[in-house]
Amino acid sequence: MTDNTDVPVTILGLGLMGQALAGAFLKAGHVTTVWNRTPSKAGKLVAEGARLAPTVGDALKAGPLVIVCVTDYRAVHELLDGSDAELDGRTLINLTSGSSAQAREAARWAGQRGARYLDGAIMAVPPAIGTADAVILHSGPRADFETHKPALDALGTVTYLGADHGLASLYDVAGLAMMWSVLNAWLQGTALLRTAGVDAATYAPFAQRIAATVAEWLPGYAEQIDSGSFPAEVSALETDARAMAHLIEESEAVGVNAELPKLIKAMADRSIAAGHGGEQYPVLIEEFGRP
Ligand code: NAP
Repeated sequence: MTDNTDVPVTILGLGLMGQALAGAFLKAGHVTTVWNRTPSKAGKLVAEGARLAPTVGDALKAGPLVIVCVTDYRAVHELLDGSDAELDGRTLINLTSGSSAQAREAARWAGQRGARYLDGAIMAVPPAIGTADAVILHSGPRADFETHKPALDALGTVTYLGADHGLASLYDVAGLAMMWSVLNAWLQGTALLRTAGVDAATYAPFAQRIAATVAEWLPGYAEQIDSGSFPAEVSALETDARAMAHLIEESEAVGVNAELPKLIKAMADRSIAAGHGGEQYPVLIEEFGRP
């Protein structure tokens, strides 16, 4: 998978994800040094050929490329605290989940210690690591990403987003917003249909088709958002708002939770009150874009 297996790799953090990352580097042939607060979690990796460093400092000294993947940014700072000298000259790739502000702050923190820094977000579960299904997002200086991409390729489909260190975290949460919105909409419909004896499995293929159709609209709607112009080519927001009222009424009539459609209807009503009723649905970006 990689043509750059001569680069030694250090992994800090051997939770479920860290172990998967280290395993993928080992499998690709990298000399792999690992460290974990609880060293016993390194047992299987050591049996597969990993080197267990006794301290974080020793792990950092093992090579130029250091991946950290622990619970949160507080843990990242706790474990690296006191290793300033060893960080100097290293590239630190932080695959720990966190916020864009934490990523940007960590980049500054690493830079003050002479380390190069890339932030990352893993859009996959541990068993997928090492396969193309594992999408891993990176942000930070492009040159640093390009330098280490041949090694990172061992982890899955690695993607570069841009120089702003916060981008990987932002894409991560944007993806979560998408995932839960689709699931919540499906659950709303499933709850409605179950009142008429239709089971979830019967409704699922229908819901799948609707979700796929709506997904097709995104690039065109994105053009409207980027241009700031929302002509009602398909339907006007006030037409959508009437359908929302219908969804709320139906939910309440059959005894199903109506909180979610009410929330969306309230946003549409505000937008209509601001004079956007004759424009197309993506004009709601103005409601989503304010606190
Ligand atoms: P996990 O299994 O709970 O492991 C947590 C790791 O963090 C362990 O190595 C733990 O060390 C270490 N840790 C926590 N606090 C620490 C501290 N103060 N100092 C040093 N080490 C500390 O979690 P995980 O599933 O590996 O997840 C790691 C990161 O990957 C998280 O940010 C998570 O959001 C992200 N992620 C996970 C998944 C997934 O499906 N698992 C998917 C995408 C992203 P000990 O072993 O000593 O406790």
